[in-house]
Amino acid sequence: MNLNAVMENSARNTVILGTGCSGLTAAIYAARANLKPLVVDGHEPGGQLSMTTLVENFPGFPDGIQGPELIENMRKQAARFGAEYMHGHLVSADLSHAPFSLNFGSKNIQTSTLIIASGASARWLGLPSEHALIGHGVSSCATCDGFFFRDKPITVIGGGDSAMEEALFLTRFASKVTLIHRREHFRASKIMLERARLHEKIEFLTNTVVDEVYDVAQNEVTGLKLRNLNTGKVWDFPTSAMFLGIGHIPNAQMFAGQLDMDQDGYLKTHDLVFTNVPGVFASGDVQDRRYRQAITAAGTGCAAAIEAEKFLEGHGR
Ligand code: NAP
Repeated sequence: MNLNAVMENSARNTVILGTGCSGLTAAIYAARANLKPLVVDGHEPGGQLSMTTLVENFPGFPDGIQGPELIENMRKQAARFGAEYMHGHLVSADLSHAPFSLNFGSKNIQTSTLIIASGASARWLGLPSEHALIGHGVSSCATCDGFFFRDKPITVIGGGDSAMEEALFLTRFASKVTLIHRREHFRASKIMLERARLHEKIEFLTNTVVDEVYDVAQNEVTGLKLRNLNTGKVWDFPTSAMFLGIGHIPNAQMFAGQLDMDQDGYLKTHDLVFTNVPGVFASGDVQDRRYRQAITAAGTGCAAAIEAEKFLEGHGR
């Protein structure tokens, strides 16, 4: 056992995995309940809000608020009440008995309750050429990488709100944005779809999929090989960047075999936040495939912290 492991030997009251909207709301409530929660930043600190721009639908901000600012405010709010932050990647967990054991590689942490708010990560198409060009014109974060494609043609893939939001954001930089969607119908909300449809810089290509991203040899995106699913037509389409807006995959693989999940890997919960293991709660996008909004993630984060507190009380804390 290494020194860090020895130092962390005494069990924490509550560990919260994730620093998105849900994890940080759980942190505010757990910290105010004097649980001194340990809050773990994963590979995407701040979660999806930290990669977005203006958030217009979070109550309390009539003019909207920038996603990163909202997250930073929550972070500070939790810290003010005693939440501690740690950076770490959960390698494995033993939830078979209390205290639960969390292995972060160089650090082993025991905790009496666990709140999993690890969110969901961007989905990729899965093409080898796409993978090879990530960071070289292929991106899942318009706010991070859009700037690099000033006055260039940009392509966005997807038919949901994320794709619409990315396309609209990218019009600030791009000479033209082409939105490619595999169906005729869109999952996006009417208001977002209308905004994108009305924008003079955005063009739509429907019933179309990407078969290859060019050009791996040049180490930059120069175009896409596209296929129309109705006609079978295949053609080369010049573009300087491909942004993915095709949804997310829940970050819960490390609990496979211990926590109940649905067929897509979302954690199954009952009564909002209870998993099948007493003392382990899940909140936010890792367990919510229906609403997936910042405010619902915050709501379940709050519920998880309250239930963790009740659980500890019921077990003699
Ligand atoms: P989503 O609603 O699940 O949409 C994903 C889109 O990607 C769908 O159109 C889907 O096509 C497409 N897609 C999935 N896999 C694909 C593949 N392998 N190849 C090509 N296309 C693929 O995901 P989302 O847009 O990320 O939104 C998630 C949630 O967050 C929603 O509830 C949304 O309302 C919310 N959200 C809200 C805002 C906002 O209000 N400002 C912004 C972003 C997200 P099919 O339709 O054919 O399945």
